[in-house]
Amino acid sequence: MLSNSRAVAIVGAGVIGTVLAYELQRRGYSVQLIDRDGPGEGASFGNMASIAVTEFMPASRPAIWKQMPKWLLDPEGPVRVRPSYLPRLVPWFLRFLDASRPSKLRKLEAAGAVLCHRVHEDLDALLKETDLTHMLSAEGCLCLYADEREFQADRDHIEILERFGFRHEILGGNAIRDLEPALTTKITKAVLFPDNRSVSDPYRLVTAIAERFRALGGMIVNGEVGGFTTREGGISAIRLKDGRTIKTEKTVLAAGVFTSKMAKELGEPIPLETERGYHTQIMAPGISMRHSIIWPAKAFMVTPTAGGIRIGGTVEMAGMDAAPDYRRAKITVKRAQEALPDLQVRETSEWMGHRPAFPDTVPVMSASAKHRGLYYATGHGHLGLTYAATNARLMGDLISGVTPPIDLTPYRVDRF
Ligand SMILES: Cc1cc2nc3c(=O)[nH]c(=O)nc-3n(C[C@H](O)[C@H](O)[C@H](O)COP(=O)(O)OP(=O)(O)OC[C@H]3O[C@@H](n4cnc5c(N)ncnc54)[C@H](O)[C@@H]3O)c2cc1C
Repeated sequence: MLSNSRAVAIVGAGVIGTVLAYELQRRGYSVQLIDRDGPGEGASFGNMASIAVTEFMPASRPAIWKQMPKWLLDPEGPVRVRPSYLPRLVPWFLRFLDASRPSKLRKLEAAGAVLCHRVHEDLDALLKETDLTHMLSAEGCLCLYADEREFQADRDHIEILERFGFRHEILGGNAIRDLEPALTTKITKAVLFPDNRSVSDPYRLVTAIAERFRALGGMIVNGEVGGFTTREGGISAIRLKDGRTIKTEKTVLAAGVFTSKMAKELGEPIPLETERGYHTQIMAPGISMRHSIIWPAKAFMVTPTAGGIRIGGTVEMAGMDAAPDYRRAKITVKRAQEALPDLQVRETSEWMGHRPAFPDTVPVMSASAKHRGLYYATGHGHLGLTYAATNARLMGDLISGVTPPIDLTPYRVDRF
């Protein structure tokens, strides 16, 4: 019989909460995983499926923010801020600017790189144990450049990767098309990131792990969290909006971008914003691809998935409530057709999701600084799928009182 101190409730059954639930169960905890929807139906449903270990660098670095004014003026640019949302974005944006100071950037880069260096070890162990290894592609990602000017504009990205020892290979025209024959001859240079892989279906990955968790005795509670009951400096119960109460000893908030509202209620505000992103799934693309591709100058990504190919990218800052603007998805499809001239746009579906993003690009994986037995796992931004197994490993150590293999100070909730 498990003692109460081995009882954990996790709020949010996205990829972060679900993989952590499985990890804690594996460590002998009795876990309740709470979500108002089914597992994996939030941001984790439609992401670009990329295990993007080469994309950890802070968005606040000069190579990005120097282009912001140009991007913001271009209605088809990679970053869009809805004018009506601008005033609400100011505090987040000021922190973003603060995160662009050179001394801070070096630390933020290191915080991302340390996680990415762990990703394959942690993910391989998870996939092996859950019999899901077949979901991970064997091929890497190709970063595309039309000419030397585009390549030079992305040089800082590659320099950061070199500094932290991530593998890459620079390729010229014929070598590129040997790897991906569907690519246009306009692409004269590419960098192959062999360790930047993808999964065949990110939603199915979450549901498969959730099924496994349930089969091993884990409890998935369908309900919307409405509040918390605190006692003696800790959380004693989670209140659901339908009136049910879940008694708990330890609580993990892993509700993606919605974690911010809960943290505020608990007196521990965090600057979490939604970076809205879009995808278009093309079930009958008329081409086949083995690698995922990113064309930085055109700001889109294409990933081969189990159900055809997925095209995505772009960031839209418009808050939680504004209706999706699917013109954003159509722009990326148009750009992908420039790279893949034979691409057919048939049998498509479009989707919008909320990346939970902190202004310094680094996730929070932390014990609360205020409430005993409360933990946060959120803000994984563009890399929630990539970081999920590593997040689970590190949070698993933190919650069980085991010394984690890396220093978790950069990911603290009270760093802002
Ligand atoms: C277009 C796009 C492309 C992306 N591409 C990639 C990629 O290629 N690689 C990568 O690594 N990452 C990618 N990401 C980022 C990744 O999808 C996210 O970082 C990740 O899904 C976040 O997972 P999560 O579990 O924190 O949040 P979510 O998946 O959003 O899960 C949060 C859960 O909390 C639940 N919840 C919220 N409030 C409550 C409440 N009050 N009560 C109960 N339940 C609640 C929600 O229902 C939801 O299920 C992409 C994101 C987008 C939008």
